[in-house]
Amino acid sequence: TSEEDRVSPLWSQRARDLEPYVPGEQPQIPGLVKLNTNESPFGPSPKATEAILAAAGDALRLYPDPRSTRLREALARRHEVAPDQVFVGNGSDEVLAHAFAALLQQPSPVRFPDVTYSFYPVWCRLLGIAHETVPLDADFRVRVDDYFERPGPVIVANPNAPTGVAIGRAEVARLAAGRPESAVVIDEAYVDFGGETAIPLIGEFPNLLVVQTLSKSRALAGLRVGYAIGDAGLVEALTRVKDSFNSYPLGRAAQAGAIASLEDEDWFRRSLTAVTRNRDDLVAALTRLGFDVLPSAANFVFARHPRRSGRSLAAALRERAVLVRHFPAPRINDFLRITVGSQSDIESLTRALSAILATPE
Ligand code: PMP
Repeated sequence: TSEEDRVSPLWSQRARDLEPYVPGEQPQIPGLVKLNTNESPFGPSPKATEAILAAAGDALRLYPDPRSTRLREALARRHEVAPDQVFVGNGSDEVLAHAFAALLQQPSPVRFPDVTYSFYPVWCRLLGIAHETVPLDADFRVRVDDYFERPGPVIVANPNAPTGVAIGRAEVARLAAGRPESAVVIDEAYVDFGGETAIPLIGEFPNLLVVQTLSKSRALAGLRVGYAIGDAGLVEALTRVKDSFNSYPLGRAAQAGAIASLEDEDWFRRSLTAVTRNRDDLVAALTRLGFDVLPSAANFVFARHPRRSGRSLAAALRERAVLVRHFPAPRINDFLRITVGSQSDIESLTRALSAILATPE
């Protein structure tokens, strides 16, 4: 059939109107220094790999446990909550999507920072949720006081993305206390790298939902496991939405691998120590090259050079096979978001940047 018969102008325009989220590139080119999507430079816990392989035999004939009971129990133990306070999904992106549909779709618009995870406005548009952005302060911090002007639901990434800047638990408590009738969702995708989790607050604030992931600090981005912790009522709301979409939560390999990873505390501690040491080295190298680097509590840094545009630096790095992320958005157009890689990644990046900065733009 010809393209004219297959592609209706009306429906392809409607499809284009559904502005999608634009994820970071995942090029399949070997040898790239890939510092653009905040993946771990280290492999996951070997115990997780073993458990995934063990789950991949004959048992794959059978459907997985639709409630992920053992995984929710493991998460409940780790975070000292009850299993009915734990919701799991295919990556925290799926958990967040359900949170938007179940909790953030309210008569008052949902509020979030003007600079934050670019998925939030996309979900709002797709689901028809009214939203308002609240500017970060001059130091790119979330100012909780600015959220008191109006009631209604809130979602904040903490540490924030793509800035890496974190707020303390006491600030999250003030945010939740200020709007008891509205859900407050805290996206803690990067919290293990230096943030302060709000999970200990959930007993006090039944409106607080904390979302975490195994993608970053547990190096399991490819397995797709994320979760939320909160009051059992909030978790029930998420479960109802998920069941309405008939979405099966996690496959057998994902459930088994996630449980084994959560049990390997030793690997977890060693890996976090290595990432934070490498982050210090990355910040030092960028500072020597003249960059301003925001204080990062995450596994990435957000940095700008006083004399070069973010776009030109990202393009020049790309030519040298180093991928970083540039966001063409107001306020952050000058910045690069650079994932904390291995020592050899940091060396490659530093070498490439020195060469780029030594030549005129
Ligand atoms: N929240 C934030 C702030 C993120 O940067 C990401 C990663 N892009 C996610 C959530 C989703 O991560 P995942 O779906 O892999 O858990």
